[in-house]
Amino acid sequence: MTAAKRKITILSGDGIGPEVVDAALAIVKATGVPVEYENCEAGARAFQKGIVTGIPNETIESIERTRVVLKGPLETPIGYGNRSANVTLRTLFETYGNIRPVRELPGVQTAFTGRKLDIVIVRENIEDLYAGIEYMQTPGVAEGLKLISREGCEKIVKLAFAFAIAEERKRVHCATKSNIMKLTEGLLQHTFEEFAPQYPSIEARHILIDNCAHQLAMRPEQFDVIVTTNMNGDILSDLTSGLTGGLGFAPSANIGNDVSIFEAVHGSAPDIAGKNKANPTALILSAAMMLRHIGEGKAANDVEQAVLVALESGLRTSDMIGVQNPTSTTEFTKAVISNLGKRSKVSAPRDYRKVELPPAKLGVNVVSAKSRRVTGVDVYVESDLEPNALAASLETLATASALRLEMITNRGAMVFPSSSRRVSLVDHFRCRFVQRDPGPDVGDVGDAEILALLSIVGAQYRWMHIEKLQEFDGKASFSKSQV
Ligand code: NAP
Repeated sequence: MTAAKRKITILSGDGIGPEVVDAALAIVKATGVPVEYENCEAGARAFQKGIVTGIPNETIESIERTRVVLKGPLETPIGYGNRSANVTLRTLFETYGNIRPVRELPGVQTAFTGRKLDIVIVRENIEDLYAGIEYMQTPGVAEGLKLISREGCEKIVKLAFAFAIAEERKRVHCATKSNIMKLTEGLLQHTFEEFAPQYPSIEARHILIDNCAHQLAMRPEQFDVIVTTNMNGDILSDLTSGLTGGLGFAPSANIGNDVSIFEAVHGSAPDIAGKNKANPTALILSAAMMLRHIGEGKAANDVEQAVLVALESGLRTSDMIGVQNPTSTTEFTKAVISNLGKRSKVSAPRDYRKVELPPAKLGVNVVSAKSRRVTGVDVYVESDLEPNALAASLETLATASALRLEMITNRGAMVFPSSSRRVSLVDHFRCRFVQRDPGPDVGDVGDAEILALLSIVGAQYRWMHIEKLQEFDGKASFSKSQV
């Protein structure tokens, strides 16, 4: 009886996508692994058909069936219109961990050749600014919400350590901008520091993201696994791919409890699409990660080794520095196929263990506090008044309110009570109101008091949104102004 074939959803994608996906599929076929493909559509063609998400329902149904996707890059309309189909896919199937490994490759000359770089970025893949929650606050001021959850941080931190253990790695850095974004980026740092002691075999260090970028350019060999937030990880992983030869060599896996999606880090590179020039290595190595994920570890090692042998034999793709006679996409693919079964002279196959993901928690994840209190409200107001004039007007309006004006900031900088520093102003003010007379036995600011204040302020000013000032377990849970 023949073994049942493992079903995989294939999204060829846009630009160079079909060329590099075809390359990877030809190699997987040559390994003899029993797989069956469901070819589906996503990206530019779906957008052109008027499917606003860029992901047709048939594609979603296929992924729900197969739970494993090999995909080419999908184009994103920049700066207008539709949301990225890539982000939608990751969100829809909660592929919360984006694993992006890079390592020194034979024959791929870089400024770091000989330093044996072997770095993995573990990027949170769902939250952060990529949730794409944005508003024009005034005609000239835009806002984007950076949402980071304790649950999201816990999942990505545990995945980073599980991954480090599975690959017998020694060190995990957590890279954040927690010195500035103390609550959002700080949540990842604190969660990392809380869970790190559960993995005593792994050295755990926190590093600020800007220093991390600097250190990656100066002494990248100190890094092993780096766990970070979505936006930071997106940028850092392009940087690390540049250290080892460029985007053409950088594979990735989007890992979730139900569905995993394997794709190159690069995009659709429209400038070289259809020219048989694209380097298929990133997608081929992504396919190797996929094979490992579906339990075909030997085939995964064979594919990786065949790529290394192709590079060792002197094949050079068009994206490599100083290349004279580039190997085409199809020639490179044929060479990898003919190398299946051969072993690299410089890099032996590794032993990989299964990455043990923490089980998914069902239902709404709640983090509770023993005590909580609302101490005031920030009202975001549009105005062309100078700060002192705006403050005088708001104080007059709020005379009878249970809340009093405490401060005003403009783009985060304090402008009232006035700072002596000159601040370049825009017509978007954060006006902080706090309890007028908290007394010794402080209570909550109630919704009725906030709504009363809003109706007085709103009668004279346009307000865009408000934020309650909350205390959880006696700790202020909002940012102060940057004076
Ligand atoms: P890109 O497609 O990655 O291309 C940037 C440049 O990198 C290309 O112009 C090309 O440079 C080189 N390159 C990338 N991959 C290569 C390969 N396999 N072989 C040879 N050279 C390669 O980035 P982009 O131009 O910023 O983005 C283009 C589109 O892709 C956008 O719509 C973007 O939203 C989308 N995108 C999708 C994904 C995804 O689906 N996961 C990821 C990133 C971007 P040369 O100029 O040297 O030829």
